[in-house]
Amino acid sequence: TVRVRIAPSPTGNLHIGTARTAVFNWLFARHHGGQFILRVEDTDLERSRPEYTENIKSGLIWLGLNWDEGPFFQTQRLELYRDGIQTLLDKGFAYRCYCTPEELEQMREEQKAKNQAPRYDNRHRHLSVAERQAFEAEGRKPVIRFIIDDEREIVWNDLIRGQVVWKGSDLGGDMVIARVPQNEGENFGQPLYNLAVVIDDIDMKITEVIRGEDHIANTAKQILLYEAFGATVPKFAHTPLILNQEGRKLSKRDGVTSIDDFRKMGFLADALVNYMSLLGWTPPDSTQEIFTLTEAAKDFSLDRVNKAGAKFDWDKLDWINSQYLHQVSPSELVDLACPYWQDAGYGINLESDRPWLEQLAALIIPSLTRLTDVVKESRLIFGETVSYSEEAIAQLQQEGVKEILQAIVDSLANYPQLTTEDAQAIIKEVTNAFKVKKGLIMKSLRAGLMGELHGPDLVQSWLLLHQKGWDKTRLQHALS
Ligand code: GLU
Repeated sequence: TVRVRIAPSPTGNLHIGTARTAVFNWLFARHHGGQFILRVEDTDLERSRPEYTENIKSGLIWLGLNWDEGPFFQTQRLELYRDGIQTLLDKGFAYRCYCTPEELEQMREEQKAKNQAPRYDNRHRHLSVAERQAFEAEGRKPVIRFIIDDEREIVWNDLIRGQVVWKGSDLGGDMVIARVPQNEGENFGQPLYNLAVVIDDIDMKITEVIRGEDHIANTAKQILLYEAFGATVPKFAHTPLILNQEGRKLSKRDGVTSIDDFRKMGFLADALVNYMSLLGWTPPDSTQEIFTLTEAAKDFSLDRVNKAGAKFDWDKLDWINSQYLHQVSPSELVDLACPYWQDAGYGINLESDRPWLEQLAALIIPSLTRLTDVVKESRLIFGETVSYSEEAIAQLQQEGVKEILQAIVDSLANYPQLTTEDAQAIIKEVTNAFKVKKGLIMKSLRAGLMGELHGPDLVQSWLLLHQKGWDKTRLQHALS
């Protein structure tokens, strides 16, 4: 059965790239009825933080990317890595390297002078017992290096990129798999990424490794480790990078990187996850762009994932988000919008104002793109009074307009409940009485009630204001 995983490092909040990789892994697992595993790669003690782990977990949950096993933590599995390193040493696949940082630096300098790519020259691969003892006697502490055969060609059939061929000589020489020991009596120190990943993926019986294309060189190294352990090599799929408008890797400089940022900008989880699934994947029916994760899982396959980088398209994300927002019920919108209204300082009481807020929600839903728009779309409704735009003031100062508004205020007294029909009746009444075009009445009423000449449906806005008594206060203010 299919077993895939997402292996974030908790060195920052859940990143859009990691989240998109999680989406693809989740879709793949669900498509095949397999397992999706969460593994936290927290071996980098200096940069890992528990709050980042929490952020990653809550972000995945918010997006609906539930995992079947885990989270597992690498720091709780160190014993396993130590056993693996010892096995490699025993079998002669790895050795102790005593080079000092200064020696390595000098090696790089010499390579640079000869215009060669920096690499470890494998100089301690075949130390004699006497040489080793001499280094130990000097007090040098070794790293553990895994032997990489320069003559090897590493070939795999990438599920996204097709056949990939990597030369052993392009992997930088024998690779460090464990740092120098920190404590007395230890054989070796902290295990490093490539080693830990392979041991975990073997142990967790991962069948497909789906991750970003920045890991391609690691994959070549890791395949050699699988072979050394005598383990089955999983299949690999390298997903394309997410690019910004300039075609460069999306980064902090683009203003948003973490899923939290997108949430704060007013994107809905379902819309964001829908959009992320399209970042590199084309559904079989490419005209179908709005779907749930479960629907996408039915159709998902890695052979429809593009090799080329996926450009981040804000307009498309906005469009998808608006499609989702327009489907939200007024009651759901009230809950989603409440924090934004409160932040904007609109005094509301979620309990007692609920029916009124739901009517307001129904009024503004069609004009929302992002959740944050609830503030600007409802701005004209909140409050006993409004400020008047220059256009609105000009309208109010036109000959006869004050008289019209006064007539409306007078007429209002006959309609304490004010329904849509009542409002229309008042408008008709006043239009007939003043013998002017209905448009002039509407424009004047809008100026007096809303303070602006553009905005949400006038009659519906009026009904909302009326329930609070704010239509009278506003019109009286406009008349004063
Ligand atoms: N911790 C690695 C990362 O965050 C995991 C890569 C992998 O999936 O093997 O990129």
